[in-house]
Amino acid sequence: MKCSICKEEKLEKGYGEIYGHNAQPINDGRCCTVCNMEVVVPMRIKLFQANVDFRNKKETKTKVEKEK
Ligand SMILES: [Zn+2]
Repeated sequence: MKCSICKEEKLEKGYGEIYGHNAQPINDGRCCTVCNMEVVVPMRIKLFQANVDFRNKKETKTKVEKEK
């Protein structure tokens, strides 16, 4: 089985629990440990931070409007 991100044959049969990481939000497939650590996890952090920033902006805006 190939990694859905680097397309390398790293997803050995029987090692699914070790190498078969969920590749979301990059794609719906599975990915190897390397791609998980270097691509998937940073992307999740980025999306999480973007979500937090969005919420913070929303809260700040609400606060400013209340202060008027
Ligand atoms: Zn990979």
